[in-house]
Amino acid sequence: LTFLGLESSCDDTAAAVVRHAPGQPPEILSNIVIGQESLHAAFGGVVPEIAARAHAERIDLCVEQALHTAGLALAELDGIAVTAGPGLIGGVLAAVMCAKGLAAATGLPLVGVNHLAGHALTPRLTDGVDYPYLMLLVSGGHCQFLRVEGPESYTRLGGTIDDAPGEAFDKTAKLLALSQPGGPAVEQEAAQGDVRRFTFPRPLLDRAGCDMSFSGLKTALLRARDGVIAEKAGLTLQDRRDLCAGFQAAVSDVLAEKSRRALDASPGMTAFAVAGGVAANATIRARLTEIARQAGVPFLAPPLRLCTDNAAMIAWAGLERFRVGHRDGLDLSARPRWPLDQRAAPMLGAGK
Ligand code: ATP
Ligand code: FE
Repeated sequence: LTFLGLESSCDDTAAAVVRHAPGQPPEILSNIVIGQESLHAAFGGVVPEIAARAHAERIDLCVEQALHTAGLALAELDGIAVTAGPGLIGGVLAAVMCAKGLAAATGLPLVGVNHLAGHALTPRLTDGVDYPYLMLLVSGGHCQFLRVEGPESYTRLGGTIDDAPGEAFDKTAKLLALSQPGGPAVEQEAAQGDVRRFTFPRPLLDRAGCDMSFSGLKTALLRARDGVIAEKAGLTLQDRRDLCAGFQAAVSDVLAEKSRRALDASPGMTAFAVAGGVAANATIRARLTEIARQAGVPFLAPPLRLCTDNAAMIAWAGLERFRVGHRDGLDLSARPRWPLDQRAAPMLGAGK
């Protein structure tokens, strides 16, 4: 089977072609991502209207490039997969409209994909992992544990009750006048910092379960920073490095301990996998690797370009859904909210 995937739910416009022949590992024939960082940089966050317009302008080009790189014509595909949510609705609509147009023109099957399912199924695309496995999705917008039991079957074990860790890294960088995105900048400074100088809270570790909280951490960091400034009338590079190290240690501790609990509560998993930009962090990765080792399961971290937003994961998730019989009609709707685990968070009258 060969699927085209389309993605436009956040600030990347993406198209990709993925092929899977039974008995062979899946092949990514193309994976085109056009980022929008420069368009939103001046605003300190993604501006929905700007994102939607840019997606609409670029999605056709993305599809053309993805097909061209794969060396395929539309007629050689078996289906079209598209992120139908969750995300910024104007953005999501760009790829959904494009996918519907292509499906209508070619008669190819259309498969709507949950963006989070795309992330969650990535270890099957990259490592061929078998169900069920435990997934920690940890990015700029998300933080949750999922038991992935099948292409349509997920159990959410818990997640952040406020900010995502990537967001906390970004805000920390902002508070310390480091570059954006904050994750890599904070990690780099932390490497030369003293983790013992500042002790930040480990929120919710005293509470049972896998829920997490990261918003208090940024308040604690702000207070520690202002404490140093008041004392010394300024921040030295070493102060910043020590603050980064303390912050990163707190995030790592929380993610590691909650991962341990999630694995504890999930016997029979074939692996522990991560996805999302924060999984690029070497300290966090090392901690999670150790937790997986203690639980006796392999640790899987897909390559970064497949960990962050992309359309190869959408093509793959669409292909998997298609295999178990899922098809969407041309009435496929874009959904701003779409929880993966319908049992944990029932949809109340939105979409279908
Ligand atoms: P989502 O995909 O959930 O909609 P997103 O597009 O913001 O959100 P990603 O592209 O997966 O998420 O990841 C970006 C986030 O990852 C940013 O917040 C960034 O700071 C963080 N990040 C990237 N590299 C690192 C790193 N080395 N350490 C910590 N965080 C990092
Ligand atoms: Fe994402």
